[in-house]
Amino acid sequence: MKEPMQKSELGTLRMGVSACLLGARVRFDGGHKQNRFILDMLGQHFEFVPFCPEVAIGLGTPRDTIRLVGREDSPRAVGSRNPDLDVTDALRDYSRKTAQELDGLCGFILKKDSPSCGMERVRIYNDKSMPHRNGVGLFAREVIKANPLLPVEEEGRLNDPALRENFINRVFVYARWRALRQQGLTKAGLIAFHARHKLTLMAHSPQGYRELGPMLARLDDVSLEELGDQYISRLMELLKTHASRKRHVNVLQHLLGYLRKCVDSSARADLVDVIDAYRRGDYPLVVPVTLLQHHFRRNPHPYVSQQVYLNPHPRELMLRNAL
Ligand code: SF4
Repeated sequence: MKEPMQKSELGTLRMGVSACLLGARVRFDGGHKQNRFILDMLGQHFEFVPFCPEVAIGLGTPRDTIRLVGREDSPRAVGSRNPDLDVTDALRDYSRKTAQELDGLCGFILKKDSPSCGMERVRIYNDKSMPHRNGVGLFAREVIKANPLLPVEEEGRLNDPALRENFINRVFVYARWRALRQQGLTKAGLIAFHARHKLTLMAHSPQGYRELGPMLARLDDVSLEELGDQYISRLMELLKTHASRKRHVNVLQHLLGYLRKCVDSSARADLVDVIDAYRRGDYPLVVPVTLLQHHFRRNPHPYVSQQVYLNPHPRELMLRNAL
């Protein structure tokens, strides 16, 4: 049975989802593509906002399938069996309008391979009916274009533990940013936001870590609004970079440095062993992080306790158990 949605410190978190992934019978064959991870795990933390662009423009269920044809940058959506059925304009108009109105979302999960919802590698057929996997669904294209900061991912890619964690991590960073903007952006708020995400950024991009601090030092040269936009746009881009095991080890060792003076040599040796075992791939990331959390609970440190890195997303999602 589905657990009730848990309250977040960030309020209600809304996630856009291709409706068929939630079990709605909106596919061409009258079926759905329900995804248990989305429904059972993410459903405890997010309020879903379903979209089915094909049904929204009046295509029935069941219906003839459509496919993309023509050029990669401006394909047309036509009937697979009846090329005279051309829904390009209807689909594009709906998608553009809808994409402009997604302001309340903190993430979007799309159905892969769909000529409407697919985010990448969607088949586009040439004039000889040969498919090339280089397309983007018409709806997906507009969602991404109109909402460049919004974390967007495909359901198929969420089966990969690293991509799954990366996506949810970005969703929560974006939700925190939205919460900050809703409170009203201040110089102190922007600097505190960056301070909280320093170790997270370090795990994804040490170069970005070195870049974003000095960027904030330009606060006297450009307006706060402008700098905030530049900052979050760069941060969200940098966080797409895979946080490798090696970079996590760097961050874990950095955290260990804050405990050197307050734990005894035996506890320190344990921490070094556990981090080393993680580095070798013997343990998942959750093990050294949990041990560090334990020690920081006993020995709180003001810099570390504000770091998002130790608690980036709800523990029940178990996203670090397979990293
Ligand atoms: S992939 Fe998109 S358009 Fe197709 S059924 Fe699912 S929600 Fe509708």
